[in-house]
Amino acid sequence: MDVILHAGRERSVLRRHPWILSGAVANVAPAAAAQPGAWVRVLSHGGEVLGFGYLSPASQLRVRLVAFGKDEPAEGWLAERIAVAVARRNDEPLLRDTDAVRLVNAEGDGLPGLVADRYGDVVVVKLMSAGMLARRESIANALCEATGAAAGYERPDAAAARREGMPTRQGVLWGELPSAPVPIREGRRCYRVDCVDGQKTGFYLDQRDARDLVERLADGRRMLDLFAYTGGFSVAAAVGGARSVTAVDSSQPALALAAEHLEGRLPADALRLVRQDAFGFVREDEGEYDLIVVDPPPLARNRGDVRRAARAYKDVTLHALRRASPGARLLAFSCSHHMGAELFRKVIFGASVDAARPLRVLAQLGQPVDHAVALDHPEGAYLTGFLLEA
Ligand code: SAH
Repeated sequence: MDVILHAGRERSVLRRHPWILSGAVANVAPAAAAQPGAWVRVLSHGGEVLGFGYLSPASQLRVRLVAFGKDEPAEGWLAERIAVAVARRNDEPLLRDTDAVRLVNAEGDGLPGLVADRYGDVVVVKLMSAGMLARRESIANALCEATGAAAGYERPDAAAARREGMPTRQGVLWGELPSAPVPIREGRRCYRVDCVDGQKTGFYLDQRDARDLVERLADGRRMLDLFAYTGGFSVAAAVGGARSVTAVDSSQPALALAAEHLEGRLPADALRLVRQDAFGFVREDEGEYDLIVVDPPPLARNRGDVRRAARAYKDVTLHALRRASPGARLLAFSCSHHMGAELFRKVIFGASVDAARPLRVLAQLGQPVDHAVALDHPEGAYLTGFLLEA
């Protein structure tokens, strides 16, 4: 079936942007075939074939393009593209030290609406578009074949369900899920991942490079891990020789796993796990730290949230800086696409001025290779970090 665009709205497609918004669509024909996830051909107003993709009749994001130009991709392209994405990770020298990687990063791998993460022998999948939701079985087969993993598990995505007007589900896609959290390894760091109830698909794979950095910076330092989740950064600090670790998160199950991960890594009196609102904690805490990680959840989920998010980021950074020893290293992260690097830098600058603590930027950080962003889809960039010296 065909999706015909309004005059002039082919421009983004010609630049290979994979999204077609509902406002760009003049006509869908035949209308009766406009089922969620339908395979569509996209035409300019003048009738030129621009590309092919999946229809999301209920979503503002009306079509996700997977091929550009007039040639329709051959049958089996989806499985092939999944195999290519998996092979990229298998062949990637920068991912050699770990058995936990993002295998498919949606638009970054030419597969809008599909995310798949590997944790040891388990693949956790998120289907986030009507097109992908409608192809659950072939996706599961392709992932199973490409990875040889023992089990596949689907996690629902509430935002996608709302946007796409389609039910999402949670459950086994193939094989049998281990009953306990799945052990993974990253260099010298070990974790266990709760693929069923954990946040995202279970673990913040996107912070792997930053964990490497923390491990290398930690020796002899007193570390504060704000928004610690299951202790990704705390474990890195402990493995790197931190003198003490204080990890703060509001989630009890997350901290319970953090406690397991850190057991035996530090003397008991050098480890503090605090279940508290991190914004409140940094205001009240009187400790001094030489290495501070601030990694809050996405505070700006859309453009309208940015001002409020900026205030929250500034507030937590300001108070974190008051706890920083002279020469301390601070890693500050934003995982909101709408909080771009330039704005985030200004927010941190504001905190630095108010705290009267000049900062030097030692490095700017972003997403690791398995979360690569396609240049034609800048929206795929969401993670910004700064390594700062107080
Ligand atoms: N640094 C973690 C990921 C952090 S994700 C890692 O690398 O694994 C954000 C975390 O913030 C989540 O674990 C969530 O439970 C926690 N969180 C959300 N709001 C919070 C709040 N107000 N105070 C403390 N923790 C909060």
